[in-house]
Amino acid sequence: MFCPFCSVQETKVIDSRLVADGSQVRRRRECTVCKERFTTFEMAELVMPRIVKRDGSREPFNEDKLRAGLQRALEKRPVSTEQVELCISRLKSSLRATGEREVSSEFLGNLIMDALKVLDKVAYVRFASVYRSFEDIREFGEEIARMSD
Ligand SMILES: [Zn+2]
Repeated sequence: MFCPFCSVQETKVIDSRLVADGSQVRRRRECTVCKERFTTFEMAELVMPRIVKRDGSREPFNEDKLRAGLQRALEKRPVSTEQVELCISRLKSSLRATGEREVSSEFLGNLIMDALKVLDKVAYVRFASVYRSFEDIREFGEEIARMSD
């Protein structure tokens, strides 16, 4: 990387070590021209994509909102808090794994529906009925028909 002092492109790493429980690499670098030393930190980029809503507006991913939505769908269902938390953590991993800066609310909705389908069928139907618009009512009916097989 460029030297922050003289902007020359040639710098060399003189020391490299793991810090922050191994989640970061700290490097001491020295400029080959002006000999100034500086430190860089490197860490994995785990950014949660922003959610693009149907009207084109963007909002940050909101874990509390996701949790509230899941709890609403799972009300009075035999699903433990631990299972819900595991589900949330998996959803977050799936979002990060996209590597995208933005995903559509539809994409997120489908991820949640897939997760609920596995977790609890009743909660899945509740969530789907709220999430899916009336235009999709036919598709929704087909989904329910498939589930009762
Ligand atoms: Zn320099």
